[in-house]
Amino acid sequence: MSQVLDLLVVGGGVTGSALLYLTSRYTDIRHIAMLEKYAAPARVNSLHSNNSQTLHCGDIETNYSLEKALKVQRAARMVENYATVQPDIDHLIFKYPKMVLGVGARECEQLRKRFEMLAPHYPRLRLLEPADIARIEPAVAYSKGTMRAGEIVAIGSEDEYTAVNFEALARSFVRQAQRTRDKDIEVHYNSRVSHINVRDGLFVVETAERTFEARAIVVCAGGHSLKLAHDLGYGHHFSVLPVAGSYYFTPQVLKGKVYTVQNDKLPFAAIHGDPDVMVPGKTRWGPTALVLPVLERYNWETVKDFMRVFRFDRKVWDVLYDLLKVSDIRNYMLKNFLFEIPILRRGLFLKDARKIVPDLRYGDLKFAHHVGGIRPQLIDKDHRKLMMGEAKIDTGIGAIFNMTPSPGATCCLENAEVDMRAVAGFLGAAVDEDRFAQDLLIGDQRHATEDLPSHIISGADAA
Ligand SMILES: Cc1cc2nc3c(=O)[nH]c(=O)nc-3n(C[C@H](O)[C@H](O)[C@H](O)COP(=O)(O)OP(=O)(O)OC[C@H]3O[C@@H](n4cnc5c(N)ncnc54)[C@H](O)[C@@H]3O)c2cc1C
Repeated sequence: MSQVLDLLVVGGGVTGSALLYLTSRYTDIRHIAMLEKYAAPARVNSLHSNNSQTLHCGDIETNYSLEKALKVQRAARMVENYATVQPDIDHLIFKYPKMVLGVGARECEQLRKRFEMLAPHYPRLRLLEPADIARIEPAVAYSKGTMRAGEIVAIGSEDEYTAVNFEALARSFVRQAQRTRDKDIEVHYNSRVSHINVRDGLFVVETAERTFEARAIVVCAGGHSLKLAHDLGYGHHFSVLPVAGSYYFTPQVLKGKVYTVQNDKLPFAAIHGDPDVMVPGKTRWGPTALVLPVLERYNWETVKDFMRVFRFDRKVWDVLYDLLKVSDIRNYMLKNFLFEIPILRRGLFLKDARKIVPDLRYGDLKFAHHVGGIRPQLIDKDHRKLMMGEAKIDTGIGAIFNMTPSPGATCCLENAEVDMRAVAGFLGAAVDEDRFAQDLLIGDQRHATEDLPSHIISGADAA
């Protein structure tokens, strides 16, 4: 057996493990390995407690254009198609009602228009008037025993898969990949990649214990991907702005997911409330959006990794200045900073959460310690902008680097599909298109994959 790997995947979160799964099952690439620095898959942003567990379908994310919504819908359908045929479906994917709530005349009008635009593409989507909201989510519609004051309307659905334990999904991908027959699939935990370079046309990937050689590599290491890309001489026009998300718990007041309308001027989604798939009997609220100088939440050792990829210079300053000069963004950043200060934070957060549940009380809220990850938002220095959604650097020489803020977990299989095709093309391998389409793309959710850009994909955030 050759010691040179055909494909090496770096990072065992939901993105890397999805690629391991797709390439092992749907290509004839024979020798594939995945390296993960922790002792198990999905210990960072894909961990069940570090993200909002939402399968984003594009319908209740008011910051998505129709085009972006349909792209995310296709990606979400792939995850649903995978998860719903697994024996452990009950640990992977969950059905809850979901809605985006409009409060006040302007937001209600916006949602009514959005419903008209989306309804033809989302057959289960409903316009929910106050009586429907009261039936599905009484705590949203009522205040002190009567209908809450002011106009409300929502759009949403009641019988759809809306939540995923992305950590369990990653473990499932790895398990399934390791079961593939006639292939050599290696998974190495506790293997932190320190450096990547190219020698004699092969990628040389170094960990403390071993050096691996591979014909192609795909790095799915969150914010660390950019550091490894820089090592190889790519992506120097990107810097990274890590945005942490914190959460609160209250007793269970919501049955499903309730999002709110996004302020167009803000780069991050407004907070929402929903069940936590691993914490029964509670409602989880968040995420907040706090810029922190780390690549992994609650891991201060990653400050130095952040400093390596941040590369503060005039162009980075220009992007930050452009953001900070918008008063809505300035106030939002300040508010999110205050959300982290004990004592102050509960009162402030309560004000936002009461937009959803008017009768929520101060004593109900508890800050969720050690819950919430980091969204590694890229700064595009050349185009002077903060990029939202996932980003990809495809070097064209058999190395791909993925940076995956929200809705990166929802898009894990679609992102892996793009990489699977690129790697197969590079290695001259074949993709079993029929089997892939039959398993993961069905019915009216099919969209042409040619629509997916091959170099850099950027979308919008909706945690
Ligand atoms: C607050 C918050 C809320 C979110 N909510 C949602 C949501 O509701 N829905 C949604 O779809 N998305 C959501 N996201 C985004 C989603 O969590 C991420 O897009 C997704 O988990 C990214 O998966 P990943 O595998 O790319 O990265 P990660 O899960 O971060 O995995 C990267 C892996 O690479 C490993 N690694 C790093 N460096 C190295 C190295 N040098 N060598 C080896 N291994 C390495 C890490 O240990 C880790 O396992 C949210 C994110 C946050 C922070």
